[in-house]
Amino acid sequence: MSSPLLEVQGLVRHFGGVKALDGVDVGVWEGEVLGLVGPNGSGKSTLINVVSGQIPPTAGRIHLAGRDITGSPPHRISRLGLARTFQRPRPFSQLTVEENVLMGSAFGGNGAEDPRAVARETLEFVGLAEYASEPVTRLNLHQLKFLELARALATRPKILLLDEVLSGLNPTEVDESVEMIGKINQRGTTLVVVEHIMRVVVKLCNRVVVLDGGRLIAEGPPREVMADPEVRRAYLGTRYE
Ligand code: ADP
Ligand code: MG
Repeated sequence: MSSPLLEVQGLVRHFGGVKALDGVDVGVWEGEVLGLVGPNGSGKSTLINVVSGQIPPTAGRIHLAGRDITGSPPHRISRLGLARTFQRPRPFSQLTVEENVLMGSAFGGNGAEDPRAVARETLEFVGLAEYASEPVTRLNLHQLKFLELARALATRPKILLLDEVLSGLNPTEVDESVEMIGKINQRGTTLVVVEHIMRVVVKLCNRVVVLDGGRLIAEGPPREVMADPEVRRAYLGTRYE
């Protein structure tokens, strides 16, 4: 492919006086795992929110598979093959675990597969099959994050944006999850991963981009980027140093 699967050009998003995104250009290539890192408040979640259609950009363009999706609503972007998880899980609290995943497979899927079969298979994949018929309120935060992941996966995305799905897990859980995320990529899904644990970024990502104050300050292979003095300065005084 000669152009990126996802391409963001000159993306700006202001909240009052806050420039959450201040002119971001980034391309995501089909098949890659792109790490999106940066200190707290640097604009990572805002970038995901704008790209997935949750909030409109102040300026800039977004293309998905060559199609201009700037300002499109989330359900249309989802049907075009982009899925995301939320940093704070947002389950449908009246529904069961399986019904939550069905919301992905029935309304976001490609229409070619049985939504129930997809939901069940996806719950199995993320390790929540035994909770399928439980109310979603029975899940803890860690499980809710994997429910988010299942709901996103059930739409059969070409590209999946993960916003801190591993935060709060213990080291063993992190390792298991990294393996699972690697599998998602091996099955052919392009990934953008927001993650603070650097060993995870180094293990999972082919390439990393660094945001600071709504601007891209570095881009390249994980180890090189994390050794960059400007990147180290950006992280100084944060919990990741
Ligand atoms: P990150 O995910 O990198 O921690 P965010 O994208 O959440 O950063 O936030 C970037 C900046 O935008 C922060 O200053 C944050 O306070 C601000 N911001 C994000 N979302 C909103 C919002 N809905 N309303 C007002 N300010 C926001
Ligand atoms: Mg965030």
